[in-house]
Amino acid sequence: MTAATARLLIVGPQGSGKGTQGVRIAEALDIPVVSTGDIFRANIKQGTELGQKVTAILDAGDLVPDELTSEIVRDRLSQDDAARGFLLDGYPRNTVQVEHLDAFLAKTGAALDAVILLDVPREESMARLSLRAVEQGRSDDTDEAIAHRLDIYENETAPIISVYAERGIVDRIDGVGSLDEITARISDALAARGIAQRV
Ligand code: ADP
Repeated sequence: MTAATARLLIVGPQGSGKGTQGVRIAEALDIPVVSTGDIFRANIKQGTELGQKVTAILDAGDLVPDELTSEIVRDRLSQDDAARGFLLDGYPRNTVQVEHLDAFLAKTGAALDAVILLDVPREESMARLSLRAVEQGRSDDTDEAIAHRLDIYENETAPIISVYAERGIVDRIDGVGSLDEITARISDALAARGIAQRV
């Protein structure tokens, strides 16, 4: 039996809980999470050349240039542990990045299997972000940077959902509820696509 692949993307507005749910789902499927935000933050923390290049961009809530971001993702997805699947969080974030990812995956005849869209009303995500700002002290969780990131989400990231919807791979998940409820909703949607978690 060939193992089914699980090449997934989780997408949703800032504060939708996609980071938390992404980790849960990836663990259940035994695939790595590839979070561009986490990769950038780790590099900033370690003071690498990449980190120095992107610090001001992240603090302002702007996007890191597409070429640079796509190169980092291609490197990460080329590692052995991503061969039978991965869960992308935060990438692709605009239609140019969708093209970059498509081109990369097509080289091995692969494509995304499912896109999990976490649906959360704007007031709810704003409230969660304010809470996170207090709890985690992320330097890009200032009111100004948050508003800017939400604008980028609406203008640049939301359009990628229709691109994937045309391919029939989007599962829209209600992101309001308890953590366990939301994880169960996502698992059910993936199971319906034949992507089942290990038991
Ligand atoms: P959030 O979803 O709350 O904005 P992320 O951790 O996904 O948090 O991203 C934090 C920051 O990292 C973004 O504001 C942006 O500066 C940078 N970043 C993350 N992913 C990308 C991407 N795909 N393209 C460009 N920049 C990105």
